[in-house]
This record gives sequence, C-alpha cells and structure tokens, in this order.
Amino acid sequence: MDSQGKKMLESAQALIRKTAEKMKLDDEMIKRVIEPEFAHEFALAVTMDNGKRKVFKGWRIQHNSALGPYKGGIRFHPETVREEVQALATLMSIKCAVAGLPYGGGKGGIVVDPKKLSKTELERLSRAFAARITHVIGEDIDVPAPDVNTTPEIMSWMIDEYQKIKGYKSPATFTGKPVSMGGSLGRTEATGRGGLFVLQALLEKIEDLMPKFFDTVGTPNPKSAKNLTSSSLTIAVQGFGNVGYFFAKLAHEAGFKIIAVSDSRGGVYNKDGLDPVEVMTFKKKKGVVSGFSGKRVTNEELLTLPVDILVPAALENVVNEKNASKIKAKIILEMANGPLTEEAYLSLSKKGVVIVPDVLANSGGVTVSYLEWVQGKAGFWWSESEVNQKLETMITRAFEAIWDKSVEKKMPLKQAAFEVAIGRITSAMV
Ligand code: GLU
Repeated sequence: MDSQGKKMLESAQALIRKTAEKMKLDDEMIKRVIEPEFAHEFALAVTMDNGKRKVFKGWRIQHNSALGPYKGGIRFHPETVREEVQALATLMSIKCAVAGLPYGGGKGGIVVDPKKLSKTELERLSRAFAARITHVIGEDIDVPAPDVNTTPEIMSWMIDEYQKIKGYKSPATFTGKPVSMGGSLGRTEATGRGGLFVLQALLEKIEDLMPKFFDTVGTPNPKSAKNLTSSSLTIAVQGFGNVGYFFAKLAHEAGFKIIAVSDSRGGVYNKDGLDPVEVMTFKKKKGVVSGFSGKRVTNEELLTLPVDILVPAALENVVNEKNASKIKAKIILEMANGPLTEEAYLSLSKKGVVIVPDVLANSGGVTVSYLEWVQGKAGFWWSESEVNQKLETMITRAFEAIWDKSVEKKMPLKQAAFEVAIGRITSAMV
C-alpha cells in the first residue's frame, strides 16, 4: 500500500497538471491546485483494554478551501499512508467541485485495523482523533465525515468529543452522524443511491450507442432507455459495505440484474441474478457473502466476469495493469475512490469502455453530507423523500455538466470532470 498510496497521489496530481496545462493555467496556479494547504500529521497514544498504551499514526489533510470549508471523510485502515490520505483529500476537492458543493477537500486517516479493536478501544481511539483535530476543524473550517471502516456511531463519538472540548453544540461540524444526533435521513444510502442516479442518467445518454457497446457481451440490444433499466443489463458489484450494498439493493429494485457481489473475503456469482437483501441476510448470519446460492468467486474473478456494468465499490487500485485486459464490462461505475490505476484507466478507455469517474459516481455521499450540514446549520429537517429528491436533482445536474463538457471537448468523462472541477476551483481563487 505504501507504494500504491504514492502511485495514487502521483496519478491524481498528474491528472490535475495535465488538465490544467490544457486549460492554459500558469504554473503557479497549477501548484496552488496541487499542493495541500495544510497537512496535519500526528501520533495518538490510546489506552487499550489491557491498560497498556498503544500509539496510532494519523492525518488530517486539508487540501483546498477555495470553494468553501474542507470536506471529506476519515478512514481507519491498517495500510493507509500519508500519500493515500493526501491523494484522497485532493480527490475530495475535485469531487466537491464536480458535485457543485460549496466545499473544498480534505481527508483524514488512522493506521489501524478496527476489526482488531474492542468497542471501547475503538471509541477511545475515535475520541482521541477528534480531540486532536478539534482546533483545526469546525462547521465553516473543515467538516469531517465517515469513509472506509468509519460509521455513524464513530461520528457520534467524534462530535461528542468535539462539542465537549468546545463547550457548545455544533451539529454541522461532522456529517454522516446518526439521525438521533442531527444526522440526515437518507445519508446512509446516499452514496449508493447517487451512483444509481448517475448510471441511469448515463444510460439515457448512451442509448443510441448501446448496440455497439453491448454486442460483445451478448446482451440483447436494448431499444429504449426503459429497457436499459429493466432486467436486460447485468451488474457485478465488488464490495458489500455501505456503498456496495446499497448500490446493489437499489439497482436491483430499479430492475437491473445483479449477478455477482463480493466482500473482502470473496464473492458469489449467479447468472440468474441475486437479491442483495437476501445476500445481506446470509452475510449477517455467516459473516461472509461467499457460500450464498450460486458459484463462489474470488474478488479477482468477479472483476472479469461477463457483465455489462462493473461496479468496484471497495478499495483503490483493484483494476490494474494485471487484470485490465481481462475486463469484459462495457461500463465501469467507480463507486470506490480510485478503484482503477492510471494504466488500467488509459487502456480500458482506449478500448471504448465507458468509465464513470469516482469524483462523479460516488459523489452522492458528500452531496447528502452537504444536505445534512445545511439542515444542521438551519436547525430544520427534511423528510427522507425530500432529501432523496434533492440528491437526484443535484447529482443529475452534476452529471449533465460533465457529460456536456465531455461531448463538447470529445474527451472521456474523467477528464471532463477534472476540467469542470479545476475551472470552478481556480475561478474562486484570487
Ligand atoms: N467519504 C465519502 C467520500 O469519499 C464522503 C465524504 C463526506 O461526506 O464528506 O466521498
């Protein structure tokens, strides 16, 4: 992961540079968009259940604040490194700009395997992290949220610690909180739901191109957008956490055929289709999805199944130079952050695979975080359907802008997304 984190940072920065040069931005402006404004690095000493102290390394990287307060999640992962957190903070600046939100980008991380901690240890670690960043965050400074392995409950400990230190309530300082603590209805499902809205908007656009796209995988040529959202299209989802599960569940409800899902321990493939809710019930009992009725597949095999749409919704760099040539999907919806390496992205785009970039595809999470922040600041709460409707309007608008740019400039969606975002960020920089 060490070198993978570096690679991820290098590709994010290289893409910003390449795009900014094409936009004829001067070198100093490019540096301002690339370099983080602040990088907080620290070691946290946490008392474990055995009474001994253990030291955990952590970061909060505040990348760019041209468009508003820094915004982004905090991940708990044993292999996270500074470069990865910085890359993810950079991608948050781009993502918030793509999503049209009044935010910059930031990200936090702690090197820890949360599965190896007891609940009390996890709470102490979360509180220690919140206490350490309290003086550099705030509802108009930096607004953290969940990311890989962090949950609404972890947010509740963090905001509680923050508010205790500050001595006042500030519900808009963290998002992704439990509803009982000022969280928004619909936040948990938001990333998956947003991904489905983006996919549906894309399918409407590429309807005319469908025969060409789908011939090779043997799907009957759909005639209308209606058909596209019916059982004619098959999907494989890698990752069965908050993002992958809700995407799979909602896509299944919308009529797509989910033929494979996986978690970190392996997956299940059933060409007749899977009901994600039933798979989740199985996972809750057995701890894993593998073993559910169908064929067992590894995570690696899932990526190369004959499907129309591949949805990597777990970790970064899973589609890489080793497996890119074996990918059969015609659309890749990047629901994880950075699931394709630069090399894989280039070779698959060249082959004509439509890649919906993470900064657009998974922006539903941060969009509903924004709606949570607005509600927290106003002290006024919307119903779940109001939240979902606003999400649909906002993410579809974000998609349209990227799509139009991509058509106008004849460039892939990822490049178009970076161009739109860099344009918005730099126009707010004086
Ligand atoms: N961690 C999520 C992301 O990468 C959500 C961030 C947020 O809600 O601030 O987009």
